[in-house]
Amino acid sequence: MHAHGLTKRFGQLVAVNAVNLDVPRACVYGFLGPNGSGKSTTIRMLCGLLTPSEGEIDVLGLRIPQQAEQLKRRIGYMTQKFSLFDDLSVRQNLEFLATVQGLPRQQGKARVDDLLRRYRLDDRTEQLAGTLSGGQKQRLALAGAIVHKPELLLLDEPTSAVDPESRRDFWEKLFELADDGTTILVSTHYMDEAERCHRLAILDNGNLVADGTPKELTAKLQGRTFLIRADAPR
Ligand code: ADP
Ligand code: MG
Repeated sequence: MHAHGLTKRFGQLVAVNAVNLDVPRACVYGFLGPNGSGKSTTIRMLCGLLTPSEGEIDVLGLRIPQQAEQLKRRIGYMTQKFSLFDDLSVRQNLEFLATVQGLPRQQGKARVDDLLRRYRLDDRTEQLAGTLSGGQKQRLALAGAIVHKPELLLLDEPTSAVDPESRRDFWEKLFELADDGTTILVSTHYMDEAERCHRLAILDNGNLVADGTPKELTAKLQGRTFLIRADAPR
């Protein structure tokens, strides 16, 4: 996935300013930055939900936003809000998403059963999603985002709403998916999560301040306080 000169203006405000990105396949690519730095806006442009003011985007060989329609079944998207159907059961949530993604009925059922097992929700299949714990909701949301085996996963602060143990658990799942070839772009304001990424980009005030492996960035940015204080209030 590549983006070149990606810019988004909201009136006078430049939310994302001429950002260049290069995300290799099967990479866990982190987006680190404080609130308001432009993480969500960038992710929304990459998946075609928001039209850039300027810039070029190539995702999985498709030109975005022009070919965003073709992208839908090849990517997964998840935010900290989880977007579950609270009044549907765990299984119904996944079966609905499998249908939306166009999986044939039998194949969809098999995929849902497999995900329920792998995401440790098989003892809660009939429970209403709205009554799950934070960590369980998060696992269900991730299972839902990958029901169609997307090549690329875009995750916007997926761990902001859960406890530390669920965060760790979630990151194990992300690396499993990357090992299986899924490309993962994940935004966070947690340093410990950013440090685990294969590569990361640091955003501040809409600008891409630096990118590279965590090791490279630590060397590059030594003595500059914003990296260490990325999660501190502005
Ligand atoms: P982050 O996800 O890093 O917290 P955002 O991408 O949400 O940052 O926001 C970047 C900037 O753009 C912020 O100043 C935010 O207030 C502004 N912004 C985001 N969406 C809109 C919008 N729809 N209209 C106006 N301003 C917006
Ligand atoms: Mg955000």
